[in-house]
Amino acid sequence: MRMKILNTIHEDYHMHSINYSDGMNTIDEIVQYAGKIWLKKIVITDHSQLAQNKEGFAVRNRRSNNRRRKNVYNDVDVSFGIEWDLIDDQWNCCFDIQWLEPDFCILSCHKEVYEGDLKNITQAYINAIHKYHKKIKFIGHICNFSTSEYLDIAAIANVLNQYQIPIELNCAYLHSQWMNLEKFNSLLSLVQAGVYVNSDMHTLNDFNLRQAGFDYLKGKWYL
Ligand SMILES: [Zn+2]
Ligand SMILES: [Zn+2]
Repeated sequence: MRMKILNTIHEDYHMHSINYSDGMNTIDEIVQYAGKIWLKKIVITDHSQLAQNKEGFAVRNRRSNNRRRKNVYNDVDVSFGIEWDLIDDQWNCCFDIQWLEPDFCILSCHKEVYEGDLKNITQAYINAIHKYHKKIKFIGHICNFSTSEYLDIAAIANVLNQYQIPIELNCAYLHSQWMNLEKFNSLLSLVQAGVYVNSDMHTLNDFNLRQAGFDYLKGKWYL
């Protein structure tokens, strides 16, 4: 079977900073380290405002200052997105950080932030994807154990394929064995748009877990 991997080892589209959410490193540290390990393109996707409020992250900086930011260290292409939070099965998502709404959006469900009944999580994804498909780049850490038992894989694949939305193989979750691999593999075999391999980096070493994600897919599929 063939599966499209949408990024290379040199691109990472999911990571968190200490400036705007719960990462342990500053954006400057992230950018410097990214250059050192030959990343060429990164998107810093801090958590939504609702996650910040509920989890009590100590966000120190005004994100609007980002306009002035420039990578002074290396040639890594750095941009800023957001990890959205699915709120319920009534089409609600949180898509801002400090009232700013970046264009690069990962749709994720965090069970600490989600307010609906987890048993209806499939419908929650379906409704959110119908409503926001134009903005969603991919679905973050899907099939992790917080929600996987309630996920109807065929139904999720169906709505993803309707809008050609990819999924993510999240290397942090893969590493911590917090993924229902059986469900993930069957989703992977159904999703036409393909898969991104991302670190979900919260500390610099998380970048180094990405190779295992690529190896996992290469062991599983003929590319
Ligand atoms: Zn986080
Ligand atoms: Zn997440």
